[in-house]
Amino acid sequence: MSEHDASQEVLRLQGLRKSYNVGKPTEVEVLHGLDLSLRRRDFAALVGASGSGKSTLLNVIGLLDQPSAGELFLLGEPTSSMDDARRTALRGSAVGFVFQFHHLIQAFTALENVLMPLMVASGKPTPEQTAHARGLLAQVGLAGMEGRKPDQLSGGQQQRVAVARALVTRPALLLADEPTGNLDTRSAAEVFQLFRTFNREFGCAVLLVTHDPRMSEQCDRTITLVDGRIESDQRAG
Ligand code: ADP
Ligand code: MG
Repeated sequence: MSEHDASQEVLRLQGLRKSYNVGKPTEVEVLHGLDLSLRRRDFAALVGASGSGKSTLLNVIGLLDQPSAGELFLLGEPTSSMDDARRTALRGSAVGFVFQFHHLIQAFTALENVLMPLMVASGKPTPEQTAHARGLLAQVGLAGMEGRKPDQLSGGQQQRVAVARALVTRPALLLADEPTGNLDTRSAAEVFQLFRTFNREFGCAVLLVTHDPRMSEQCDRTITLVDGRIESDQRAG
């Protein structure tokens, strides 16, 4: 088990709103005042129809995009008044992302791809960091494949590299936007199991966008967005 307090609040949203094209005739609000809290132990599915605002919400939570109103606390810190440098640093240290398409760097090996977030933060990786990255690759079932380039790996293996990369900074929050949408059933199940394992072992909260009921049913909590509002937030029996 991790050294972290499983009840620690990782994320809190208060009246969070997001509009696109602010100040233009095409301005449109897509998130209409969301309240939400996630703790380290949480393993939550975010579901909703296409266009309901799931990706917008994940991008705002992950500090890739700014809310238009309301407050977003990450690890207890209010983020709305942060400058760009602080936001970037907090994003890098607190949040891991996995997207539908893995966005691995083709010229880099699996190991180099996993090390990327650490190198962005602090330059050349230390021996400890490299050992940690190798350990993660082993944990996602890719021991012995550290030196392969993405095109020498299957789609499922590439996505497992992306999972290891998302976790290399030991983030408190793992955000995944349809991470298995591009995978066959078996690879999808393997990637999903990795999220479960890391949630339990590292104590990192997981918020997972999925269209697959077989996955959302295995989450502890299901948050449903309808037209930019949280329609329900249910814990599994
Ligand atoms: P989901 O991920 O649930 O399919 P999105 O967050 O991608 O939903 O989109 C929510 C709404 O916001 C949609 O109506 C979409 O067209 C709109 N939208 C998303 N991104 C932008 C953008 N960059 N500019 C304007 N509108 C956008
Ligand atoms: Mg989306």
